Amino acid sequence: MRDFGGPPALLSINTATLGYRWPLDRIIDAVARRGIGGVAPWRRELDAVPAARAGAQARALGLSVTGLCRGGMFPAATAAERRARIDDNRRAVAEAHDLDAACLVLVVGGLPEGSRDLAGARAMVADGIAAVLDDARAAAVPLAIEPLHPMYAADRACVNTLAQALDLCDALGTGVGVAVDAYHVWWDPDLASQLARAGDRILAYHVCDWLVPTRDLLLDRGMMGDGVIDLKALRALVEGAGYAGRSEVEIFSAENWWKRDPDEVLDVCVARHRTVV
Ligand code: ZN
Repeated sequence: MRDFGGPPALLSINTATLGYRWPLDRIIDAVARRGIGGVAPWRRELDAVPAARAGAQARALGLSVTGLCRGGMFPAATAAERRARIDDNRRAVAEAHDLDAACLVLVVGGLPEGSRDLAGARAMVADGIAAVLDDARAAAVPLAIEPLHPMYAADRACVNTLAQALDLCDALGTGVGVAVDAYHVWWDPDLASQLARAGDRILAYHVCDWLVPTRDLLLDRGMMGDGVIDLKALRALVEGAGYAGRSEVEIFSAENWWKRDPDEVLDVCVARHRTVV
């Protein structure tokens, strides 16, 4: 195992980290110029820079696309709306294929509006992923279920632990794995055993840090090294489970990092990756 994060080639930048201020093609250029090895776009960026073009640009510069964010959001109040969400996920699979992305990240969705039926929402998630799975397998796009911290169970993801995500993977079969995000899993007392259980089903590894205090549930994530997560220990567990991919920096930070020059943010990501990831 490396005893530090290593060269920027082992790093990937999730474009959310830069606050959606640059178009994707500019981000890909800036990432490649620093020797960073990967990039993970959001679908909203593909309107301006189509997936096939972005994928070709990344390939030409030697970058991996470590994931596309995001599919999911399966639970909905009506059958028609649930079908619409599944159709949208099929489009996301096609985009991930055009990008040559390593996976499509699934933020699975929370409670439908007005609902208190958490078990029902979780069943809709299982049904939704199953409905998309044939397309994903045919396109060779693995689906990465990202368990989110339980504070998001109502509005973003009712899959909240790695164990729960892996139970879904077990039920669904091939073509499904997990995205492990330090921010969402670091607190889990079963983390070590569940990472070992995940093994080669770890499709992506997202890093940032947990700030104390956290001032906003969504948009106050920390730069690696500024919070309380033992990122080196976590990376050792993730790599010990067999993950050999990149560490993808994903920071939502409306009041801090999104206000800084994206070039500066990228430089800090490279430096922190080297020292604390
Ligand atoms: Zn993530």
